[in-house]
Amino acid sequence: EEEIIDVIVVGAGISGLYAAYRLQQKSPELKILVLEAKDRVGGRTLTVDLQTSLNENESETDRFDLGGQWVTDTQVNITALLQELQLHTYDQYHTGKSIAELHRRVRQYSLSLPYISLLSFLESIYNILQLESLAANVPTWNPMMARNADYLDRHTLAHLMKPWICNSANPLMTAAVRTVFGCEPEQVNALFALTYAQAGGGFMRLTLTDPGCAQEKKIKGGSQQVSQLLVEKIGKDKVLLETPVQKIVQNDDGIVIITTTQNQTFQCRKLILAIPPSQIIPIQFEPMLPGYKREMLKHMPIGSYLKFIFTFDKAFWREDGLSGEVISDGSFSPLGQSIGPMTYLIDGTTSNGTPALLGFIGGRCASVWTSVTREERRKGLLECLSRYFGGHKISTHLIDYAEKDWNLEPYSGGCPCHNATTGTMKDFVDGLRKPYKNIHFAGTETASQWMGYMDGAVDAGRRAASEILVSFRQDEQLKDDDIDQYTFENQNRKYQNCRVPRSNFYYAIPIIIVTIAALTKVFYPNIFQLNKKMTSIF
Ligand code: FAD
Repeated sequence: EEEIIDVIVVGAGISGLYAAYRLQQKSPELKILVLEAKDRVGGRTLTVDLQTSLNENESETDRFDLGGQWVTDTQVNITALLQELQLHTYDQYHTGKSIAELHRRVRQYSLSLPYISLLSFLESIYNILQLESLAANVPTWNPMMARNADYLDRHTLAHLMKPWICNSANPLMTAAVRTVFGCEPEQVNALFALTYAQAGGGFMRLTLTDPGCAQEKKIKGGSQQVSQLLVEKIGKDKVLLETPVQKIVQNDDGIVIITTTQNQTFQCRKLILAIPPSQIIPIQFEPMLPGYKREMLKHMPIGSYLKFIFTFDKAFWREDGLSGEVISDGSFSPLGQSIGPMTYLIDGTTSNGTPALLGFIGGRCASVWTSVTREERRKGLLECLSRYFGGHKISTHLIDYAEKDWNLEPYSGGCPCHNATTGTMKDFVDGLRKPYKNIHFAGTETASQWMGYMDGAVDAGRRAASEILVSFRQDEQLKDDDIDQYTFENQNRKYQNCRVPRSNFYYAIPIIIVTIAALTKVFYPNIFQLNKKMTSIF
């Protein structure tokens, strides 16, 4: 007779492992098992060794993240977990000028936004403030309660970013969207994008390295340690690797039967699915998942990302007063040819002081540049670096290169996160988070705080664990606020009718800026033509 396990968690990413850890902490008598498809834990986090010395006889290496890596103090869930696991962070280097390669021109800039021309600068500020004001009106637990939710749900993010004065701000915004979502603005549901941004505190928070922003800090020794340390806490024998789940049957007697691709079966009373939405689709369910879940999951494509790292023997860019940060629109020609693979680049120097530059190829750049060989891509990236920092410096100081095309990663399917297509958000809450009989759903995409990030993964893991702890509780007297407040039912009850008050402040600023810019352009048509080359842009 096969043993019936109390809780099986599918997926040994941060979310699944945190759920298992939380269950064990709160109820040590529970029998728990984690099933993971890959031969490693960590899911979308992956820490690897890169060479740090040119001397081939010395095999000096340092640890680098090819998956998720940054954290910030406003991400309270992961911050608390790092403390608990005694992992330390260090600040992302961001001193000096940044570089923008937009419209095939390389410029240095010191403000938060690159300056192409006065008009495009104003346009970018207008666009960002407009997006921020719209995002501020979205309740992240229940996005359909946002003002104009229906309208936003029917449109893409590109619709919200359409030009008001001139078109030249657009490549910058597109590059930012590729970096954050790994896709094009035309591909993301506007309401989803606003929800995603608001879950992290706004669009600017997702793009900056400042305190409280998404790229503020890195984890010493790499982020995969979070999962590895969680496994040590849970017990190595409770995490089975290379065990991909293929079929999930829910019996009338309340038992869940799980079958793996190797035809192993497991039985449990409760199941947590802590895997990405696109990876739920191939699993066979009996009975089938409800329609609202199937439809939501079917319409959640995952972003397209390739992450790369170059190590150097010297952080030469710092000596030149540069931060190492570059944003690029991929330098596409009108015929769709791109001279630069790069979407985003940043200083990747480790806490041990190993100089590095790392970055992403995302969205359209990824579809073009993941179709070529690794060598061609490396060459294309090195040409980018040469344009930004000088070819001689790159060839003199370069040591090692690593890359990971997350589109090719089995059981992840892409990265950094899933988004939603238009017209899907009515099913968002139940489709992603609502338990179905004895199956509970975790994973960063189901979070309402920092959805898509490691912090969201922890948030979701805690919710799923809380739901199970409440359902196992025999005695209603034993209520525990630390558990009860996080369940789907309680969160839903609390937030389902909640509207966020309109923020008039954000609305006023863009209107004033655009009015001044438009009037100035009418009365002094030449005032913005500070540089003759720029006139073509207007
Ligand atoms: P995952 O990590 O995807 O874990 C799911 C697990 O389920 C995987 O291990 C998978 O193998 C397993 N699985 C899937 N299907 C099955 C199956 N059928 N059977 C058994 N197991 C299965 N986040 C940040 O906070 N900061 C960043 O800087 C950041 N940058 C990123 C950069 C990159 C390149 C990438 C890839 C991600 C980045 N992220 C970042 C996102 C972050 O890594 C994820 O949000 C987080 O790791 C997701 O955790 P998860 O547990 O929800 O899902």
